[in-house]
Amino acid sequence: MTARYGVLGWPVAHSRSPVMMHAAGLSRYQLLPVPPERFAETVRALAGAGFRGANVTIPHKEAALALADEATDAARAIGAANTLELAADGAIRASNTDAPGLLAAIEGRPRATAVVLGAGGSARAVIWALRSVGADVAIWNRTSDRARQLADELEARAVTEIPANADLLVNCTAVGLSDPSTTFSSLPLRPDDLRGYATVVDLVYRPQGTPLIHAAQRHGAAIVDGLEILVQQGALSFRTWTGREAPIAAMRRAVRPSSTDGSDRHADR
Ligand code: NAP
Repeated sequence: MTARYGVLGWPVAHSRSPVMMHAAGLSRYQLLPVPPERFAETVRALAGAGFRGANVTIPHKEAALALADEATDAARAIGAANTLELAADGAIRASNTDAPGLLAAIEGRPRATAVVLGAGGSARAVIWALRSVGADVAIWNRTSDRARQLADELEARAVTEIPANADLLVNCTAVGLSDPSTTFSSLPLRPDDLRGYATVVDLVYRPQGTPLIHAAQRHGAAIVDGLEILVQQGALSFRTWTGREAPIAAMRRAVRPSSTDGSDRHADR
């Protein structure tokens, strides 16, 4: 029987993962909308229903790590899992492909200094990834206590003013998602500040792009958008489940309209 896969979230209807994983060849990959109170029992029932893997998104990433029988060191250090392997005997193994996905998406770009906006779940994975390759990471967050706590834990620096220059600026806040028009009033940044960064990365994605990515392009910064991050973490989940390299070009084509481009550097990959 063809193995089943899915993405667990609440809500999850907006997820591009099914269309991306269908393009990768996982024809039985589906949305798995599960409220927090039913998460553990649902995950434990998946293997018996023929599922061999699942992605995990908001708000279940910490719970996914907690219920796994086994987890990678990286997932434990980050404190969250976005990929589950579901063995036929019921054993659950957790890993985190958000962190290596970010590193794959910025491969070859300068990354010695980074500014990370946000201190939530995705910021944890991004900061851990950047620290793992030796970057100096400054964290700005609306709630400054959370930035300080994360900085202490992951050996980064909390800042109350966003540094004007760095190799990377990575947006890990939810700003730009529900109302893009508030991006530059919600963040202490002006569009032309983006010229101070060699590469601007926005984890938030929208089919038509985000104000941060559009402004970065206008001001001459290189860009990596949230759809490219989605593709890279998905490709690593695919490899975890199948043992095969993912068809990244097909996955990219599936998630974005052909007129948009989420990275200025992936045509050759
Ligand atoms: P999260 O844990 O809920 O964290 C949200 C972060 O956004 C916090 O730092 C929060 O600051 C900040 N924030 C929310 N509203 C804000 C506002 N109006 N002004 C300033 N800061 C605000 O969420 P997450 O899991 O880190 O995800 C963050 C975003 O990344 C989401 O939009 C998600 O869709 C996206 N994402 C994309 C991918 C991908 O594959 N492309 C992967 C993961 C996440 P406070 O601490 O002050 O509340």
